[in-house]
Amino acid sequence: MANKMSLMVPKVMKPRYSSICSDEELLDDDSDCYVSIAEKRGSWSEDFGSIPSCQNSIYLPVTGHVSAPLPQEDLASTLTPVIKVGWLYKNPPQGSLIYQRRWVKLDAEYLRYFDTEKDVYSKRIIPTASITGVVNVGDQKFEVVTHNRTFLFRAESDVERSEWVTVLKNCIGASRTQAGLDLTFNPSTTSEMRGYLELRGLRSKLYTVVCGDKVFLYKNTEDYRLGIGITSIDMNVGNVKEVDRRAFDLTTPYRIFSFIADTEQLKDQWVEAMRDSIAEALSNFEVAEQIWSLPANQICADCGTAKPEWAAINLCVVFCKRCAGEHRGLGPSISKVRSLKMDKKVWTEDLIQLFLTLGNERANQFWAANVPPSEALAVDSSSEERRRFITAKYREGKYRRYHPLFGNQRELNNALCINVQSNDVCETLALVFCGADVNCDTGDPDLPSPITLAQHHGQNPQVELLAQNRNTELPRSEVEVAIDTLHYMAPPSITHNGFLFKTASMARPITEKKSKEEFSRRWCVLNDGHFSYYESDKNATPNGGLKMREIVCLAVNPAEAHGYDHTFELYSDSERLYLFGTDNPEAAHEWVKSIARSFIPVAAEVLLLKDFERIGQLRYKDGLNLETSRLGWFCLVGSSLHICLEEHNRDETIDLQKLLELSIQPDNDVLVLVERGRTLYIEGERKLDFQGWAAAIQRAAGSSGDTLSLQQLTEADIPVIVERCIHFTTQYGLISEGIYRKSGLNSKIAALLEDFRRNARCVWLKEGEHQVDDVSNVLKRFFRDIEEGLFGQQSHNWLTTTAISDESSRMSQYRVLFSNLPRVNQATLRALVNHLYCVQRFSDLNQMNLHNLAIVFGPTLFQMDGKDYNAGRVIEDLIQHYVTIFDVNEQQLKRQLDEITYIIKLRENLNPKAGPASGDFICTVYLEEKKETAEQHVKIPATMTAAELTFEILDRRKISVKEKDYWCCFEVHEKEEIERPLHYQERVLPIVHSLSTDSYLLLKKHFSMEAMLVYLASKVEVSKHGMMKFREERNLLGLSTGSFHDRYFILTSASLRLYKDVRSNRPEREWSVKCLKVYHGIKKKLRPPTWYLCCDTQTEMREWFATFLSIQNGGRVWPTEWLKSRAVSRSTPLDARFGNVSLIPLRGSENEMRNSVAAFTADPLALFRNV
Ligand SMILES: [Zn+2]
Repeated sequence: MANKMSLMVPKVMKPRYSSICSDEELLDDDSDCYVSIAEKRGSWSEDFGSIPSCQNSIYLPVTGHVSAPLPQEDLASTLTPVIKVGWLYKNPPQGSLIYQRRWVKLDAEYLRYFDTEKDVYSKRIIPTASITGVVNVGDQKFEVVTHNRTFLFRAESDVERSEWVTVLKNCIGASRTQAGLDLTFNPSTTSEMRGYLELRGLRSKLYTVVCGDKVFLYKNTEDYRLGIGITSIDMNVGNVKEVDRRAFDLTTPYRIFSFIADTEQLKDQWVEAMRDSIAEALSNFEVAEQIWSLPANQICADCGTAKPEWAAINLCVVFCKRCAGEHRGLGPSISKVRSLKMDKKVWTEDLIQLFLTLGNERANQFWAANVPPSEALAVDSSSEERRRFITAKYREGKYRRYHPLFGNQRELNNALCINVQSNDVCETLALVFCGADVNCDTGDPDLPSPITLAQHHGQNPQVELLAQNRNTELPRSEVEVAIDTLHYMAPPSITHNGFLFKTASMARPITEKKSKEEFSRRWCVLNDGHFSYYESDKNATPNGGLKMREIVCLAVNPAEAHGYDHTFELYSDSERLYLFGTDNPEAAHEWVKSIARSFIPVAAEVLLLKDFERIGQLRYKDGLNLETSRLGWFCLVGSSLHICLEEHNRDETIDLQKLLELSIQPDNDVLVLVERGRTLYIEGERKLDFQGWAAAIQRAAGSSGDTLSLQQLTEADIPVIVERCIHFTTQYGLISEGIYRKSGLNSKIAALLEDFRRNARCVWLKEGEHQVDDVSNVLKRFFRDIEEGLFGQQSHNWLTTTAISDESSRMSQYRVLFSNLPRVNQATLRALVNHLYCVQRFSDLNQMNLHNLAIVFGPTLFQMDGKDYNAGRVIEDLIQHYVTIFDVNEQQLKRQLDEITYIIKLRENLNPKAGPASGDFICTVYLEEKKETAEQHVKIPATMTAAELTFEILDRRKISVKEKDYWCCFEVHEKEEIERPLHYQERVLPIVHSLSTDSYLLLKKHFSMEAMLVYLASKVEVSKHGMMKFREERNLLGLSTGSFHDRYFILTSASLRLYKDVRSNRPEREWSVKCLKVYHGIKKKLRPPTWYLCCDTQTEMREWFATFLSIQNGGRVWPTEWLKSRAVSRSTPLDARFGNVSLIPLRGSENEMRNSVAAFTADPLALFRNV
């Protein structure tokens, strides 16, 4: 962790951020300024550390410690243990007298030294193989001599010195015995590239060598030839990204190396070579090295090529890559090909032991006992020759040494049973591949098979050899049917039969209505997982059929979709669609149930209980498992999507009408469903059934327009249209005379209503664009048209209640009726009456008293003409006794009314001449903490910036401001315990509009601002990368609690990218930075908004915030002259970006998400970036 901090400390005097290696830092030759740099670093850290941290506004979750990989661990992964490390003084460079303190590290291969013990990249790397001598030279000094150069070190004591000399001498003695002087010698190297590359920030180019799993940097070719490098980069932590035409970055957790190649072509080659190197670094040498420890395994068993990296784990031979290709061609029933490097999992200790016991030499004594020289392969044999030879050798067994018992099955089996009790695996190999049955009966009930016998006698290599050949095809034996490896839990056997009408199967979705003539009558039989259809019930041979386990989806069409009243579609995994129909509803129902039961696995059978219109399997991903998709069973019932996960025996439901977002990523066919707290990615594994699902889900997520409950709903179960109209009217209509009585413009009302019906989530009511009277009439018309009305089927009972003269009995009756309403009706009625209550409270302004409102809303809500005043009477009662009937919290109501009062009063006071449509909004802002005495009511004009608001309040409170008081306006979300400082140029009004009831604006000092400004000032290019803890919503379907995961982030001026780890080549996610809103968590409690990031220290977090802020605002984080800006701020042209809330939130409150959706309808691509 300490290491991480030191790496993150901004470098002083560096030309560029990404040029993390400056001349001084990287090269060790002309380093006069070392001491001074070290000092600066130190003092910098102290400065930074002394900045008061804002304990109250930034929180670190308990789980939030990023454990950045320690460099020591990474180095250990090179498999060379460190022999000795410690501080030494290196002789001064030319022209200097000061010894340089260096952290020196020695392993069997290299002697390296570093600036500090925390550094990962050395200043010098000397292969032990190139060291020719180590000499004591007095005064605790010693020399390390290489062919061309001598390095002088001074230890802190004689003891220390003699220890170093001893270990170094031992080391060079040992490395002498090894082959090769080349620093980059690596016998298993496959990727290699060398040449000069420019490293940003360095004056001269570096000679760069990609070799195996490392990249080496040298000062020049001369140094390379002599083997004295600057540093080596372990590519197992590397990640290569192209930057522009000639530039690319090699990113590691510790540094970004920004290279520039001479030409575009060379850049491509470098990038490829480095990516190969990463792949190589990630492959596994451990197994290969063990297998190769037997010399016979160091050459290909078939052609003799050195360092073969592949093996047939059943045939017990090791071979080269080219021969591996031919082995694969034989199929796994003959040769089970595995990589020594990549298939680490198969290489158990026993299997490795088997390969060491047998080895290529002994295996070939059997397999290649009789190879005519004319047929033998050589290193340079052609593919054709290889194919012929390998087929003859293993498929036909042409060259094998025949066992004396060959042809005598009983004796072979008998011999096998006896031999497996010994350790003679050669004999077993010969027996098995000459026909002994691996699964033969031993005659011993306790140890019935050769494998159990071998186990019993502790012969593990024997067990391994037998197990690998349980299903092997013997040479020359008849070809058997391959074992079916499909895992499928057979559902209980379902039998059903009857006549159905069927069309020809199709490869495309059905878009047109199929007439009866297009169907043919077929006798259909469902039995034992097979669905067959016959010409008639007399025929014995089916015309065709389907295996139930090939069915991936069953869709029930709405009645009368086709010529036959009841039709359903079956989708197979081979992308065929079958349409069946009947006029008999019971028969159709029976068939649907039977077919569904026969392809839905037991684990998902709970779905079968539902009255689904579509059921089947889909692959999906969720937030924390983006790498691998999983199989899930889905069914759609109305607007509910039920999901059964592969491994869980319970279903989860997504209410599609309450989705915050629903989109299809067109390039890769992924359906994205965003619900509060969950995001689900459904993959279009197959096109045909996916199209069907996507269309059905989209349909289900829309408003079907008939009844209240079929609308798109808010979280509170209120139709989106109702909520938006009420919200708008509350803001702009309460002082509008005759609100709800005046008629709007009919064409506008109709158009707006139509927009809402099409997709209410996408309709944004805006002041100026929409008129209060149009909106109020949309609301009325919506209620008038809604099927079944707001009071539902019991509306008559509401009307008759008015006849009860005793007020309290009447009220109880209303309460009973209210409690009997469906959920959505309840929520909607409560919201509407609350709104009307507020409207009439301000009737002195809008003239709409209780009675007037009742006249308007009675007939509207009861969907009658105005003749029966009982309707009006109900509304009058509901409004008048709103508190009683709806159990309203009076304090809450008072607050609501107070707010409205302030809005109106202040608007009149401040703006006596402006009409009601002036668009200013009055808002409550708190000073320093949320309490009544700290309340300020401020009129917010549309153009007001956060800085203006801040000054307005400070002025009012007569608070004098000093230059370093970073007063800032925060948007605080109490419930979610997060806050966000508004940017000084950010417009306040859109924020105010997006605040929910538990959010507010708060003015306080921004305690991290100073630190952030200092941090930013030190950076030439603002970007940042590093590990953070990342958490997305609760685990999908809430099955387990989500936790934080380490992820690697790169934040640049363009985007924030998330990588699974530092090695990943492709980001898992990418967000456009300008589209993110970044919040601080305030307390420890975590609720599930969309994304959480957290850092291990406050400094870290501050740096990330600073970087975000700076990028999002083009570097303008704080006004350069803060106090002067107060005078000019009002005239400063405003950044248009903040005018319309075009910010995608980094969290997912409904308001935020809605805003973001709206903002991004203009730029759909940006939306995808966000999901
Ligand atoms: Zn070979």
